[in-house]
Amino acid sequence: MTKSETLFTAAQQVLPGGVNSPVRACRAVGTYPRFLQAGKGSRVTDVDGHDYIDLICSWGPLILGHAHPAVEEAVVEAAKNGLSFGAPTEIEVEMAQLVCRMSGMEMVRMVNSGTEAVMSALRLARGATGRSKIIKFAGCYHGHSDSMLVKAGSGALTGGAPDSAGVPQEMAADTLTATYNDAASVRTLLEANHGQVAAVIVEPVAANMGVVPPQPGFLEALRGLCDAFGALLIFDEVITGFRLAAGGAQSYYGVRADLVTYGKIIGGGMPVGAYAGSRKLMEQVAPLGPVYQAGTLSGNPVAMAAGLTQLRILDQNPDVYTKLERLGQRLQTGLEDAFLSARIPARVNRVGSVLTVFFTGKPVTGYDQARSCDLQRFARWYRGLLDHGIYAAPSQFEAMFLSAAHTAEEIDQIIAAAREIAKTL
Ligand SMILES: *Cc1c(COP(=O)(O)O)cnc(C)c1O
Repeated sequence: MTKSETLFTAAQQVLPGGVNSPVRACRAVGTYPRFLQAGKGSRVTDVDGHDYIDLICSWGPLILGHAHPAVEEAVVEAAKNGLSFGAPTEIEVEMAQLVCRMSGMEMVRMVNSGTEAVMSALRLARGATGRSKIIKFAGCYHGHSDSMLVKAGSGALTGGAPDSAGVPQEMAADTLTATYNDAASVRTLLEANHGQVAAVIVEPVAANMGVVPPQPGFLEALRGLCDAFGALLIFDEVITGFRLAAGGAQSYYGVRADLVTYGKIIGGGMPVGAYAGSRKLMEQVAPLGPVYQAGTLSGNPVAMAAGLTQLRILDQNPDVYTKLERLGQRLQTGLEDAFLSARIPARVNRVGSVLTVFFTGKPVTGYDQARSCDLQRFARWYRGLLDHGIYAAPSQFEAMFLSAAHTAEEIDQIIAAAREIAKTL
């Protein structure tokens, strides 16, 4: 038994499934989770001493790689002054100023996770519009708050059915589900629920059904529909924020949202989320307005130190995004080539530094196509990567994340491994 297996056995006695977040249990890919103990740059080491090229990067936050020296130093320095006050601190102001400038928004509120950011943004949208319904897209993930744990119901005009036990049907009924990359499905819902839809929430690049880019005109169409029907457009930029560009998907695609949610990168590896919008909207939030939202640890100085340091580096080094695009393209082309040579039907979807391999011969433009891929083959692919020292997401419905710490040589190692693995798929 490896030390990871021993730990996993012990973990299962005291943690549901042995984990604190379900995908980590690796159940979809038929293996046990590797317990990690250290990370530096683009690499992680597990408790058995195996070294991996890390393509998860903590599910996105570590866009500069593990233990970046500047981030590490900022955290250590901040910690020396105390871990938490629950009172205003200078660094929160600097953080808010930078986030507003990078996002093009006027005001922001810090929270502790992406889930919390989305939950709060939805409450604000409902409070500001006086409407209660929300439109989301099947296969888009927005954290685990009750109203977001809803996927497509069979009838496009009826309320959704909850995806999880414990979510009351009445709660899910106000969540309407549309089809990603299909603006007409949104129009249908807006017309059938005229004057009742508070917001349309979307991952501008869907990355939780595997990576599915928005088709040209899709985000623009959402903007137009929201304006026409008086609904707010919420971009859930928990993954895309500060990753596709310094200004996130809003600047990458040139489409403005009314509210934006952040998580992952914004905390530099610490638990941080945020939601941002116009002054007019954000002034609806307590203590200025009637929409209540609070947090004991929100704006925590150590978390702010990590996030602010990482954001400053991104803000001041646009070449990071050039490098990420170059690495992403190299990996995509190399993988496509490897599967083609081995005659394995596969699609590699990518936007910038996030990508997913789908084992299918058809284009993956939405949730239905993503669900129809060969998941058994994906599991073999995943285990092959592990054997070759590559640590990737243990589910096809996730993304691979590149960081600025990855090198072209490492990308080539991954491609060489893919050529070997492809022969066994
Ligand atoms: C990860 C994620 C969330 C949830 O963030 P947590 O910090 O895990 O609560 C929300 N939306 C999107 C798009 C995400 O990828």
